[in-house]
Amino acid sequence: TGRSTAGAVTRALAEVHAEVGVLSAGEIVSYIPRLALADPTLFGVAMASTEGHRYQAGDADVAFTLQSVSKPFVYALALADRGVDEVSRWLRTEPSGEAFNAISLDRATGRPANPMINAGAICATALVAGDDAAERYERIRAVLSAFAGRDLDIDPEVYASEAATGDRNRALAYLMKAADALPGEVDDSVDTYFRQCSIRATASDLAVMAATLGNGGVNPVTGVRVVAEPVAVAVLSVLATCGMYDASGDWLVRVGLPAKSGVSGGIIAVSPGRFGVAAFSPPLDTTGNSVRGVAALREVSSRFGLHLMHAT
Ligand code: GLU
Repeated sequence: TGRSTAGAVTRALAEVHAEVGVLSAGEIVSYIPRLALADPTLFGVAMASTEGHRYQAGDADVAFTLQSVSKPFVYALALADRGVDEVSRWLRTEPSGEAFNAISLDRATGRPANPMINAGAICATALVAGDDAAERYERIRAVLSAFAGRDLDIDPEVYASEAATGDRNRALAYLMKAADALPGEVDDSVDTYFRQCSIRATASDLAVMAATLGNGGVNPVTGVRVVAEPVAVAVLSVLATCGMYDASGDWLVRVGLPAKSGVSGGIIAVSPGRFGVAAFSPPLDTTGNSVRGVAALREVSSRFGLHLMHAT
């Protein structure tokens, strides 16, 4: 891709940012008190190509906590550590059609529907290798950093706020534990999960993280292999059906890309072999997805012809 292509991508992103920026609907999440303080006007969009080119518009350098956008990357680490067979003994990969905090546990086995809802994500966190919670968390922070290509850290205030109000997640972990469906201890698993959700990154970082999944597990900016190709492919497959809460089906029809959103207003989408795309804007729609983020990714997919079901 030459200079003119790069210019065209930058211009298109600036146009998308201007068009979508006028949207003012949505509510900032409030069940984690610290997240309610977010600035509703923030809006950033970023793309990274699998050749390592980076593009951005708006507030793409503002750091925010990943929340559920951490889930695909921790699932990737669990797959890398334990292998697909062992992970699938604990975690199903079926869309739940329910909200992120739903009690979607299999009636007979207690296993969570998929690793993108909270119960499944807590289970994936517990599957990460490490002698204790501190080592598991540090391995998670390190792999998220490798996906981003820079050292990421935790937002201590969001972590404290989440730990203080996380009883629903504790309850999910206890339900799994009671059914022998949690591969770890409740307190350690939930605490490590709160920490991973409180790791902060920018939309620009998220675009590179997404591009790494779309590039077979090799970070296209640093050249570092972060996970094996089959792991990246498995993660993208789960994102295609389970990444956007109970709006996942509609999202696949309209945008046509594996994606993951989080309650702080971040979204990543992956165009395999081409781009990682990310958006950040705190106000959420009723399904918990960023209003401007959804609109921006829909527009990017359509302008660049990224829908996976397109013939070309
Ligand atoms: N840390 C949040 C929770 O567990 C993440 C939720 C989300 O982003 O979907 O409630």
